Amino acid sequence: MPEDDRDRDDIVAPDMDLAALGGAPAQPGTVHLVGSGPGDVGLLTTRAAVLVATADVVAYDRLAPAAALSLCRPDADQLYVGKMPDRHALSQDEINALLVDRARAGDAVVRLKGGDPFVFGRGSEEAQACVAAGVPFDIVPGVTSAIAAPAYAGVPVTHRGLAPAFAVVTGHEDPTKDDTQVDYDALAAFPGTLVFLMGVGRIDRITAALIAAGRPADTPVAMVRWGTTPHQERLVGTLADIAEQVAETGFSSPAVTVVGQVAALADELAWFDTRPLHGRSVLVPRTRQQASELSRRLRALGADPVEAPTIAIEPTDDPEELRRSVEWLRAGRYSWVVFTSPNGVRAVVDAIAAEGGDARWFAQTQIACIGAGTARALADAGLRPDLVPDTYTTRGLGLALAEVADDPDLPVLLPRADIASEKLDQVLDSAGVAHAGVVAYKTVPAAGLDREVARRLLDGGFDAVALGSSSTARNLVDLLGSRPHPDIAIVSIGPVTTATCEELGLAVAAEADPHDVDGLVDAVARTLTA
Ligand code: SAH
Repeated sequence: MPEDDRDRDDIVAPDMDLAALGGAPAQPGTVHLVGSGPGDVGLLTTRAAVLVATADVVAYDRLAPAAALSLCRPDADQLYVGKMPDRHALSQDEINALLVDRARAGDAVVRLKGGDPFVFGRGSEEAQACVAAGVPFDIVPGVTSAIAAPAYAGVPVTHRGLAPAFAVVTGHEDPTKDDTQVDYDALAAFPGTLVFLMGVGRIDRITAALIAAGRPADTPVAMVRWGTTPHQERLVGTLADIAEQVAETGFSSPAVTVVGQVAALADELAWFDTRPLHGRSVLVPRTRQQASELSRRLRALGADPVEAPTIAIEPTDDPEELRRSVEWLRAGRYSWVVFTSPNGVRAVVDAIAAEGGDARWFAQTQIACIGAGTARALADAGLRPDLVPDTYTTRGLGLALAEVADDPDLPVLLPRADIASEKLDQVLDSAGVAHAGVVAYKTVPAAGLDREVARRLLDGGFDAVALGSSSTARNLVDLLGSRPHPDIAIVSIGPVTTATCEELGLAVAAEADPHDVDGLVDAVARTLTA
């Protein structure tokens, strides 16, 4: 641990040059057989990311993470070819034909498969189809669920002294049938860990076969369902009782089953599904443009944040006024400029760029900002704030400014949204600080709510909604045409948003303090773990 108490939350990964890390784009006329990893999109390889992002066609399975598909080009064909009870599934021959045909037509084809393409993925059959058709192909290995799902459940597939080897076995075949290729006598005698994929429906016969072939009935077993995702669940028992536990709990596929002494380490080493908000779903209404800091932090606590745009940002109706303000900024006619949102920073920086200017236009002016997101937007523009008040409230900002902005001839510039509250103006007025507001951007309600999000809001399919402003609260209710289900905890960023919620008839379960992203995350955690 470092000695100093650094705030790791403020450290974000730098923008990475994916192309440099991930290699050449997907090639026309080629089939790329790509592993997507087990579910956590962070386990997608950089090579896979580049190929998905550059393909003309992405043919994907049920277990490929949805977030990986968000990398696709907007004009790419995303084809679901997996199996789902309620959807038509393509046969393997049809999939092979599709890959070959699209590649022959000149497309850059990515076949995106859960985990690793060669671990029970039939990737090798697709490669054979390419060879037979004379279509070029390549293979991008992926992180297999056979190792990753146990790892996220605290189960190492090998461990010194406990398991010097591991075997990955299909659980797809029925051990009571004569035509099974799996040799249960050999498996029972195997000196190491057994990892079964696909075997949930046959777990009773698999465990019985291992016991019958001589594995002790008290051998530890761990099963991990939806491993590496916010829905991960873990079941730990023994060869004797795990099938019963599966039946009792309704534990279902997809899951991996780990048989061996290492399975018992889950109790000691579990780290992922034990995080405080593991599996709790939180709706994060946001502007379309704002990458969500809030989601990132909730995810770090194990939550499953779902982002829904409720506001869109548009250019101001009066660009001339904004242009004049940035010209005056350049001329040094303001003492300070105060940014209260990342959108405000971007709007002003864009307005300066549109005039052919750059960061030097701020040279004669001090900069204040509230919020880590706003500070980051400034940093992106090569600017460092001179003042960041300790308390992230309008009042805190007003008071801090009153102490430093003491030139009566040079007002403070306040770039902001069209619907910004007048509160900062009031605080500055009463402190005797001259100020000038300018509309930097306009907020408009988003066109609509995603259908799935609306359904979950109405039937209680979220644990909480985190409201970062009054306008998100209002727009959410407008877009939904109703109040969310009363079981969903409404969490508000501060008193103004809480008041709006009450007006709208929403009972607020918790209010953030301090009134910023940190406070909001704490309030969500408090409510959901109470
Ligand atoms: N190629 C894949 C496996 C495909 S077979 C890989 O390397 O992971 C499908 C089986 O994989 C499922 O029935 C289940 O046993 C396992 N599986 C895939 N993703 C999983 C996940 N996230 N959690 C648990 N098991 C998973």
